[in-house]
Amino acid sequence: MSQRGLWRRASLRALFLLLAGYGLGVFLGHPWLVTTVALFGLLVFWIWQLYRLDQWLDDADAPPPEASGVWGQLFGHIHDIQTRNREEQGLLSGALDYLRDSLKSMRDAAIIVNTNGYVVWMNVSAEEMLGLEPYGGVGGALIELVDYPEFAKYFTAQNYQRPLRIDPVEKDGISLLIQISTFGEGDRLVFLRDITEHFRLEKMRKDFVANVSHELRTPLTVLKGYTETLLTLDDELTGKIQKPISQMDMQVQRMEVLVRDLLWLSRIESVETREKTGSVNMSGLLEEVAYYLGAVWPERKIALDCTETDDVLGDFMELQSAVSNLIVNALKYSDPRHPVSVRWFERGDNKLILEVSDRGEGIAPEHVPRLTERFYRVEKSRSKQTGGTGLGLAIVKHVAAAHQAELQIESELEKGSTFRLVFANSAVTTA
Ligand code: ADP
Repeated sequence: MSQRGLWRRASLRALFLLLAGYGLGVFLGHPWLVTTVALFGLLVFWIWQLYRLDQWLDDADAPPPEASGVWGQLFGHIHDIQTRNREEQGLLSGALDYLRDSLKSMRDAAIIVNTNGYVVWMNVSAEEMLGLEPYGGVGGALIELVDYPEFAKYFTAQNYQRPLRIDPVEKDGISLLIQISTFGEGDRLVFLRDITEHFRLEKMRKDFVANVSHELRTPLTVLKGYTETLLTLDDELTGKIQKPISQMDMQVQRMEVLVRDLLWLSRIESVETREKTGSVNMSGLLEEVAYYLGAVWPERKIALDCTETDDVLGDFMELQSAVSNLIVNALKYSDPRHPVSVRWFERGDNKLILEVSDRGEGIAPEHVPRLTERFYRVEKSRSKQTGGTGLGLAIVKHVAAAHQAELQIESELEKGSTFRLVFANSAVTTA
């Protein structure tokens, strides 16, 4: 029977009971008394059904009480809702278990932290990495468990766009890469990866390049001394070998520049993750660079436009070398008839921009993503002619990373190129 039909039948039954009670009452001479008794009987029956409902709800696993009519339907409805809830809960907890299992099985440490920074859950790798007993970290403050000052700063600053890398302070210490993402209402999922081995190999490579470059300096100085002396001798003595000597001298000079750039790159790399504390006046720095490059390239014009007066948190020498590389490239690879434009300004989004533009030969799009690789050249002949080492843009990229700045490159063949250093707001202090 339909739901409505059942209710209609229940109402008719109640009405019939009342009328029958009243009829019987008239027959017995006490109509109201008998009607009241009938009503009371109905009430007792409903209270009895409600009592059964309450008993049943206490024991969620029991089947619903047997009943007919509207009560049977009511119990059936509640039973259906309970079954559906149970199924949904099962699905949800299955999905949750699946997620937990996948996080649990990760080799990286995974930690879930609540809005207040306390650990809600962590996998076994996290417990091992932090040297904790099983479940020993749950409920603890994460910044106390991951006990590095740079982590505490990173965690509380809540700017997790870039991962944090912690390099070992002691020789046998571990190196960590930390990534955090937020979810829900301020909860955080923290991943810690042990990159000690990667760090060790990278350090070996850096040390090797730095050592080789360093060792090459002495023989190069000696060679340079000889070629310079030979070049000052009379033509009579060096007549036939004059040309090879000057070529040797040129190559020695190239090697010297190469070694200088390699050493400089190693130095920048070794301090890249250290926080910059110096305050650099960019307008002053640009004027200085434009002045001495103007002396080297007297026939060229460098158009300087500085509208920003705020200082940048950074290292003067590093920024100077990045800016010089960008301007020298613009001078090398552009039409001498056009000036090179250098701008330092604040953009609409409050970021500070250093922009070097030229109207030169430009770079084809397929080369742009690779320009900052060491020794990458668009055309070998092009940079051979201009005497570049192929390390200039690698230096710029590392200086940018060390200053939390981004290097952006826009270029169009035959039109020119724009190299932009975009400094994050946090890198800036107001003078
Ligand atoms: P290099 O010492 O060869 O100039 P860089 O790392 O400074 O090395 O630059 C890499 C390559 O990018 C250069 O060889 C050149 O082909 C290209 N390049 C750099 N800057 C410009 C520019 N302003 N215009 C055109 N090409 C450029």
